[in-house]
Amino acid sequence: MKAARLHEYKKPLTVEEVPTPTPGPGQVLVKIAGSGFCHSDLHVIDKEIELPLPLPLTLGHENAGYVAAVGKGVTMVREGDAVVIFGGWGCEACGPCVSGHEQLCDSPQWAGLSKWNGGYAEDILVPKESYLVKLSRLDPRRAAPLADAALTPYRAVKKALPFLEPDYKALVIGLGGLGQYGVKFLKILSGCELIAVDISDEKLKIARNDGAEHTLNGRDPDLREKVMDLTNGKGVCAAFDFVGSDQTLAAAVSVTRSLGKVTQVGLGGGTANLKVLANSRFEVAFEATLWGTLKELREVTALAENETLSLEETEFAPLDRINEVCERLKRGGVAGRIVVTP
Ligand SMILES: [Zn+2]
Ligand SMILES: [Zn+2]
Repeated sequence: MKAARLHEYKKPLTVEEVPTPTPGPGQVLVKIAGSGFCHSDLHVIDKEIELPLPLPLTLGHENAGYVAAVGKGVTMVREGDAVVIFGGWGCEACGPCVSGHEQLCDSPQWAGLSKWNGGYAEDILVPKESYLVKLSRLDPRRAAPLADAALTPYRAVKKALPFLEPDYKALVIGLGGLGQYGVKFLKILSGCELIAVDISDEKLKIARNDGAEHTLNGRDPDLREKVMDLTNGKGVCAAFDFVGSDQTLAAAVSVTRSLGKVTQVGLGGGTANLKVLANSRFEVAFEATLWGTLKELREVTALAENETLSLEETEFAPLDRINEVCERLKRGGVAGRIVVTP
């Protein structure tokens, strides 16, 4: 089968022939229909995120496709089933794993980010059948981003629900693939009016279409004052930072009300500073959420299947052109998600 592999950091991926894996007992081989290209893979390729990866490795952790072959003992899926693949594989034994938070495993076995190859390939070997969430109506090519671009903001919003009080507004900073889903989930799950911030007017327009009541350009020097004006000086009850730079985190902290919550989702390399009686108000909670659980992926998939959640605009690119996708994402010229198709 064909796979796009990382042989050396800071170098383009190599599209090459590799042996097609055979599923062992309990394992499933899935023919990839689509693999969403995630921004964090750029950080991995450029070695900006330190993970102990055995190279060469096939990246790609946002996958969906069709069951191609099943190993001995597999009973829940059959050849031909359309599935979206949970990628936060774990050891099944540590504290986070046994409490249902496998994506936070003490020794992660993440698809395409560990010894397990990912989905920038024609096929992927999945270690456990329970990692597959069956699709009935959705096209797996379009459903692939559910596994990360939708799942990650879903968890961030769900964990902030106790803070999302409808007599306050909520703030979303950064409207890339994940931030756009963040806006959608806030509209589905909370009654708060939203203030959406990005430096791209095109992305602000998408956020308005998704239901954000207020949009502000992140380059505006009076951004903080404008958010405070929109909230009648009260501040927001919850801020979601899908960028995660020093600047965006500082902006989020500065406009969050007492008893509010700042959630960092973006891995932009910034550090959040909360100093009571200085830059932050009283009892502001901070959490950096990571990815989502298998249960949350089932919920996100159900919301998409029953059309409560509309899928983002998706662009498709063939596997052979994956390095062009990398370059385009680095330049920031992508409005929605790009899904790589073999
Ligand atoms: Zn990702
Ligand atoms: Zn574990």
